[in-house]
Amino acid sequence: MADTAYDPNNIFGKILRGEIPAHKVYEDEHTLAFMDVMPQGEGHTLVIPKAPSRGLLDAQPETLAALMRSVQTVARAVKAAFDADGLTIFQFNEPAGGQTVFHLHMHIIPRREGVPLKR
Ligand code: 5GP
Repeated sequence: MADTAYDPNNIFGKILRGEIPAHKVYEDEHTLAFMDVMPQGEGHTLVIPKAPSRGLLDAQPETLAALMRSVQTVARAVKAAFDADGLTIFQFNEPAGGQTVFHLHMHIIPRREGVPLKR
């Protein structure tokens, strides 16, 4: 389990509730995908579960299953849309792990041969 409880007053919780805008690219019953507002590369996309999970450690197994299904769907679409050579997919947990928004999310970044990430 995570050390800290889920706080619904986070940016992605607000996006899920429609309280702030996002460039949405995919949605189903359990997940939502949208473009990262500060992309580390062209096409940087985030996929989140609708279930209130702070990170990987407190997520329910069915939440993770739905999330990974959507990650694969979105990754395929993003790779095709940006004609990418490959993909970088990653996820951070807690501040020490690099997490800054405390609603579970997966990063998907299309990659080109020889082009580094922005940060
Ligand atoms: P973390 O470091 O928590 O894994 O990544 C959070 C990501 O959310 C960052 O890549 C950041 O650019 C993105 N982000 C932060 N605020 C917003 C926002 O309001 N809208 C969108 N679309 N992305 C955001």
